[in-house]
Formats: sequence, structure tokens, C-alpha cells
Amino acid sequence: MGKELTVVGGGLAGTEAAWQAANKGVKVRLYEMRPKISTGAHTGSSLAELVCSNSLGSNLADRASGVLKDEMRTLGSLLIECADSNAVPAGNALAVDREAFADMVTNKIENHPNIEVIRSEKKVIPSGPTVIASGPLSSESICDSLASLLGTDHLYFYDAISPIVYADTIDMTVAFEASRYQKDNGSNGDYINCPMNEDQYSKFVSALLKADRIPLRDFEKDIESGVRAGAHRFFEGCLPIEILAERGQDSLAYGPMRPVGIISPYDDKRPYAVVQLRRDNLAGTLYNIVGFQTNLKWPEQKEVLRMIPGLGQARFARYGMMHRNTFLNAPNVLSESLQSRVRPDLFFAGQITGVEGYAGNIATGLLAGINVTRLMDGEELLVLPTISMMGALCHYVSNADPDTFQPMKANFGLFPALEPPRDKRKWSKRERYRLYSERALDAIGILKNKIK
Ligand SMILES: Cc1cc2nc3c(=O)[nH]c(=O)nc-3n(C[C@H](O)[C@H](O)[C@H](O)COP(=O)(O)OP(=O)(O)OC[C@H]3O[C@@H](n4cnc5c(N)ncnc54)[C@H](O)[C@@H]3O)c2cc1C
Repeated sequence: MGKELTVVGGGLAGTEAAWQAANKGVKVRLYEMRPKISTGAHTGSSLAELVCSNSLGSNLADRASGVLKDEMRTLGSLLIECADSNAVPAGNALAVDREAFADMVTNKIENHPNIEVIRSEKKVIPSGPTVIASGPLSSESICDSLASLLGTDHLYFYDAISPIVYADTIDMTVAFEASRYQKDNGSNGDYINCPMNEDQYSKFVSALLKADRIPLRDFEKDIESGVRAGAHRFFEGCLPIEILAERGQDSLAYGPMRPVGIISPYDDKRPYAVVQLRRDNLAGTLYNIVGFQTNLKWPEQKEVLRMIPGLGQARFARYGMMHRNTFLNAPNVLSESLQSRVRPDLFFAGQITGVEGYAGNIATGLLAGINVTRLMDGEELLVLPTISMMGALCHYVSNADPDTFQPMKANFGLFPALEPPRDKRKWSKRERYRLYSERALDAIGILKNKIK
């Protein structure tokens, strides 16, 4: 087989896959349709643009997302390296200055001698070694091509993004800086909290429920064009606030507006509910409203969100929105190596595999890039151990029940259980997570030495 690879999609997974292959001497043609064709969620022309939050999740070694990133650091991920280099203070999370991050990835990719970036839509799945990483907002043509090759249904549903507010329009005589449990040393300014009493909360919830939403007309169109029935589901981890509010009067107070670990400096009490805003750029001029994805019409959004104490005069840099999310029925289509079951030289990476979240998407790009190269070199494909987070995610998407398949992000529930301790004492959750983490990193370390 020749040493030429096509990667479709210059997002998080596609750039990582291209980098991994190019570093092994493969000539890569990386197709990215932006800026000629937009996805509706991306706003610029850079590769690896983060479409919503600027956080890649926890950096703590005993958190699932932290383990995943440590595994990728061990395996030499380009994108995690760029994220580390462009981190902004966010307590224990790895949050980045989104523009600086995307610029750095774009520079590295465009200047790699083995990578040619082609700014054009790839409408049909190419022949020859290929990685499809066209993301949750894959173009219609490539989706059609995938449907006809794979002969399988796609699932389409909607995802929501949260609004961003200009920092200097937040009333800091009402709002205050604090991290939950004040855990994150020196993290002042990472989070701004808008406290609510019970009356304010209940008025906010009723206004939210009454506000007009943007109708999901495109989604209906998708159903008519043959999308699997019952696909009208939201990303559980990214539910719009109005949908959450419909689930019960207090569901927001137990969800994104939970006040646990927050004490107001104004009365030394825990508020009834709290709206948290997280710093969105290094300069600290923008803050996103954490967990406040919404599909309200923009004028209604402004009105309702301005009811939040401290946001009475807020100016919005971006309103919340909802978007299509496309992914394959991976258990029917993919093997654990991310190779398609129907065509050995066709691999998938990113959100389209059903692995969810920025870090997980980068991880699948890394594995797909390594594996397609191994295939081209006549080597055995890597199947990562399920005791690693990368392996557990790939195992999940390729082995879950296809009838009920849903995207999954890194979590310890995917890991095989540990042998119970000999002395029969009960492990604390923290201790268990630490052991999971050590086991995962040992396994990836051993694997790395093997594939050198
Ligand atoms: C609106 C929205 C918000 C999200 N918010 C978050 C979040 O806050 N946190 C989180 O962890 N995850 C989030 N996700 C999920 C997911 O982690 C991100 O979408 C992530 O960027 C997916 O990585 P990817 O590489 O699979 O796709 P992308 O990063 O989207 O990259 C795919 C690229 O392929 C290009 N493309 C598409 N079709 C073609 C074609 N035919 N030819 C050439 N190029 C093509 C696109 O322009 C795009 O640049 C969100 C998803 C969506 C849709």
C-alpha cells in the first residue's frame, strides 16, 4: 500500500490523526471545508476550533478526563501539547485560550512537511487509506456518502451551546468571585458567581419556561430524510436549561445552578441557587455561563438571562444555540482499532465515532492516526487495553448495544473493576480512582515502549 493518507476534517480529531501519521513519514492530505463552507457552529477558519466551552475537562490524575489526558501526553498528542501551552487559569481544569490554541495547532499542521491542507469539502469518501473525522456537523454530502457505503442509519440530534458575557458588564456588587469549596488555590477570577434567593430562582424558572424557543425545523427535515425514528434526543451532558427546567421546579437548583460549596461573601450563607460563569479567555474579558446551553430565541434569552442577579446589564458576546450532532451507530460499523468493519483502509475519529467531548475526540484521532499508519506499514493494528481510558472508550463504542447506542465520554464506569483489596477493607472512592489511574497509565506506558 502507498504512503498517502486522506483525512477528512481539520477539527480536533482530524488534526491529531494527520499529525500522528505525518510524523511516521506518511504523506497526508487533510481536507477542511471551512472557511468556504461553514458548519453553523464554527466561527473562524482555524483548524481545531473549539466550538463551545474552552475547557478540555479536569487535569486531576484521579478524574476520568485527567487520566485520559495523561494517557495522551504519554503517547505524544499534539493537541494536548498545544492545550497545555495555551492553558488559562481554571482551577483544576485544563481550559485554554481558544484562539491561541487553534492558531498553534493550525501553524503546526500547516508547516508540517508531510501535511498538505486542502481547504475544500470532501463530498465523497475517498478511496485508499482514509480517516473520516468530519465531526458532529459533518457536511450533508459526506453524510450521504457514508450512509451509502456503510448501509447503516445515522443518528441526528441536537446539541446546545451556552452564552458568553462580557466581563465588564457583570455587576460585581452583586456577583462575586469564588470556586466551589474554594478548592482551587489561587484561582480567583476563574469563576464568577451570581447568587439567587428562592424567590428570584422561582421567578427565573417560570420566565424560562414561558420564553419562546427557536423551532427545531431542520431536525424535522432530518427525520423526513430517513433518520432513525426516536432520534430526537439531546446530548445528556449538554441539556438546554429550558429542557432541564421542564423536568421539575428544582432540577436546575440540583443541576447547573447547584449552590453546593459556594458561600456568598455578602451574608456568609449558601445561596438558594447559583449561576456560575467561567473565564473564557486569557485576558479575562469574556465569561461563559456554565451549563447554560439554551435554545431560547435571542431577544428572549437576553431578557431571561438578565433576570440573573449581577447580569441585569449584561452584554452578550455570544448567545446560546442548538446544533445538530451526527454520529455513527459505531457498534455496527467500527472495530476497537477504529477501523471500519466494511473497508479495512477506512478509519473513523472524533465525535462521529460516538466518543464524546473534546479530549475523547482528540484521543480517537490519535489512535486512528497511529492505526491507519500501522495498516499502511503492514503492522498489526493497536487495540488499546480496556484498563486505559482510551481503550475503554474505544471498546465501548465498538461493543455497546447497537439498538440503544449513545455517545459516551470518559468515565470510570467504563473500566473493568479492580481486584478488591486483600485485607477486605473498603476502598474510598478517591483511592479507587487513584488505582484506576495508576493502572491505566502503567498500561499505556508499557504499550508506548512496545510501539516505539
Ligand atoms: C455545538 C456543539 C458544541 C459542543 N460543545 C462541546 C463542549 O463544550 N465540550 C466538549 O467537550 N465537547 C463539545 N462538543 C462535542 C465535540 O467534542 C466537539 O464537537 C469536537 O469539536 C468534535 O471534534 P471532531 O474532531 O470530531 O469534530 P470537529 O472539531 O467539528 O471537526 C470536524 C471538522 O470537519 C470539517 N468538515 C465537516 N465535513 C467536512 C467535509 N465533508 N469535508 C471537509 N471538511 C469537513 C468541519 O468544518 C470541522 O472543522 C460540542 C459539539 C457541538 C456540535
